[in-house]
Amino acid sequence: MKIAVDLDATITAYPGVFEVLTAAMAKAGCRVYVVTDRIPGSEEQVIRMLEELRISYHDLKITRDKKQFILEEGIDVLFDDTDEYFVELPEHVAVFKVREHYNFDFKQSKWLYTEKTGRKV
Ligand SMILES: [Mg+2]
Repeated sequence: MKIAVDLDATITAYPGVFEVLTAAMAKAGCRVYVVTDRIPGSEEQVIRMLEELRISYHDLKITRDKKQFILEEGIDVLFDDTDEYFVELPEHVAVFKVREHYNFDFKQSKWLYTEKTGRKV
């Protein structure tokens, strides 16, 4: 199974969770990809960050077009915090959305952003 995990507001939101989760998935034989919309060319910085956070992964991909990469690679699962990366993926790709203060109001227990526009509801 191929697993994609976003970096910002996903791994960085719950680094301890993703430290354990990525290690367990890799140990189970999954191929773990970190897929991030960071600035192209920032691979070394991202690699250092992933080492500091003790994330287990096989491949790092920096891209704005996560959908294309996920489909090309045949990735089965995406962990991310941003709806725009979820909505156009086919049903067979399992998605897990991470809550952060910018996308979820913890006091009112509700999501703050719409699916496609990214605007506040
Ligand atoms: Mg993110």
